[in-house]
Amino acid sequence: MRVSKLPPYRLSDFRPQHVNLRDGEVPTLRCPECESWHSIKRSLLTPHYPQPGKRCSGSARHIVFDMTVEQWGAALVEGGLEAGARRSKQQFHKPAPPAGQPVHRMSHTAQMSPLERARQAIARHQADCKICSGGKRCRMPRILAQSEAGRAGLAALERALQAVARHRVACADCKNGQFCPMGFELAERMAWTEQTREDVVRRQVREQREEQSRERGRDRRIALRRASDWRRVERDVRRTDRERAQRPAGADCPNDHTNVPLEPIRF
Ligand SMILES: [Zn+2]
Ligand SMILES: [Zn+2]
Ligand SMILES: [Zn+2]
Repeated sequence: MRVSKLPPYRLSDFRPQHVNLRDGEVPTLRCPECESWHSIKRSLLTPHYPQPGKRCSGSARHIVFDMTVEQWGAALVEGGLEAGARRSKQQFHKPAPPAGQPVHRMSHTAQMSPLERARQAIARHQADCKICSGGKRCRMPRILAQSEAGRAGLAALERALQAVARHRVACADCKNGQFCPMGFELAERMAWTEQTREDVVRRQVREQREEQSRERGRDRRIALRRASDWRRVERDVRRTDRERAQRPAGADCPNDHTNVPLEPIRF
């Protein structure tokens, strides 16, 4: 692997939700250059190719692990709490979406993955929906998941809902019917992240194959060059071999030229 000569990435410089150091998972990082998730192996960000043959400059960057898993977890929870507090204080005066352009298709969301778009659209809806916040079954999240990310979106939403259900069983606040933004936020995020991780693994496999096939291609090119070099000199080599095999008739020792001087020559 060609290690990048560009400056290293320090994990503490990243937003905690752009880092994944969960126990038992391969550490991953959202590459700041191409904004997609990639694994960290041997303190290097796995090389990746956003377009075939075009290596991202975040590839094989050195990663400085300047925070512990605990510090990262704490930063993640803090960020979640702040977002929860912001959301509950917020006043909602929904601006009318511009005609002909659905809100979820606006430019800043254009580069997001379909699943992330679905997650955010659902979160926006739930912050504002009486049915959802009342714990009743609302049709909108499913509709949003489907429209933003299709079948994968529905599957991810299903997992998110199951994660919430699991959390509610274990959480005292939730059991007492108290609103628990933290538990909800975490459960929801975790389920969606799982799905994103599946995408990461799939992409890694594809990129590994790409790298391998590139290496195979290089080996093949070298072998072909060697073969053509050989073809070019083959006739000369064979002739030389033939001549070497012949000895002057009647001579035991064909070596009758003058000896090479072994003594240093002085002038
Ligand atoms: Zn990248
Ligand atoms: Zn709703
Ligand atoms: Zn809870």
